[in-house]
Amino acid sequence: MSARTKVTLLAGGVGGARMAEGFAGLDDVALTIIGNVGDDDVFHGLWVSPDIDTMTYTLSGLINRTQGWGLSDEGDRALSTLRTLGADTWMFLGDRDFGVHIYRTERLRRGDRRSDIAADIATQLGVTSRILLPTDDRVQTRVHTDAGWLSFQEYFVRDRSRPDVRGLRYDGITEARATAEAIAALATADLIVIAPSNPLLSIAPILGVDGIQATIRSAAAPVVGISPLIGGKALKGPADRVLTSLGHRPDALGVASIYGDMLDAFFVDHTDAGLGSELARLGIRPVVSDILIAEPAAKARLAREILRAGLSTEAQPL
Ligand code: GDP
Ligand code: CA
Repeated sequence: MSARTKVTLLAGGVGGARMAEGFAGLDDVALTIIGNVGDDDVFHGLWVSPDIDTMTYTLSGLINRTQGWGLSDEGDRALSTLRTLGADTWMFLGDRDFGVHIYRTERLRRGDRRSDIAADIATQLGVTSRILLPTDDRVQTRVHTDAGWLSFQEYFVRDRSRPDVRGLRYDGITEARATAEAIAALATADLIVIAPSNPLLSIAPILGVDGIQATIRSAAAPVVGISPLIGGKALKGPADRVLTSLGHRPDALGVASIYGDMLDAFFVDHTDAGLGSELARLGIRPVVSDILIAEPAAKARLAREILRAGLSTEAQPL
């Protein structure tokens, strides 16, 4: 077969972008990403889309590698002017990054679709994979804490994910309509992958858009997930704590249980091999591997293993 394998990846920010890089590096894969817009918000009058930007900057090679988000070679002159003027500047937005937010906001003002804008930014910055949005409508994650409901960025950036999460809601999600592109990318995929992203903060706002989950369930493609938790710990961010406080097990099994029978196979780390039989009991084929993918070689190796696991018909040995 000469046609490239069509992989559709559901992904949040940093963990999602790590997995996307793995597939983007494979010549025989055509990668389409469905990203998360639940973290979007307005700062200084500009529409900021952090997870989509992390994905775009990562795949274009413009990312700040040490941080894992934002552009490399950034400055903070615009932000310090805003601070001098008395604006709230807890959300870091770099000088180069501001250009993207200005561009996005101006195109929104002109009435362009959010997903067209995201796709054009990615293409212009040199990304060859497709970056799609689950919806063109506004969906925004809100976090219930002891201090009341916070916007996602107030919780995540301003308060550094410190407050205990009592509840989550995704404003706008019940009215949101899936984009035709996202539905088509799921329906025609050879393989659907759920990235090692935060299940409740990054993947849930994608799956919750009407039509997305139903299309995944009826799609011909196998669905493979990767645990964002290793040994019950998030590599970065609050995933383990949020799972616990919302009544889920803070481990690979807890994450897999959220996706449930949508999954055909789920990748867990060697450390978590012991969860294999419980995953199998849920009807999910466990695949034990090295799922820490900080380095380029590890990303590509895991992407290959996911292709093999997803596209093979016979059961994989543990
Ligand atoms: P965010 O939107 O930037 O918070 O990023 P995501 O939701 O896409 O991903 C956050 C999750 O990625 C965290 O729970 C991390 O544990 C997970 N993560 C980050 N790096 C890796 C990695 O190398 N391997 C795995 N398996 N998970 C990772
Ligand atoms: Ca995010």
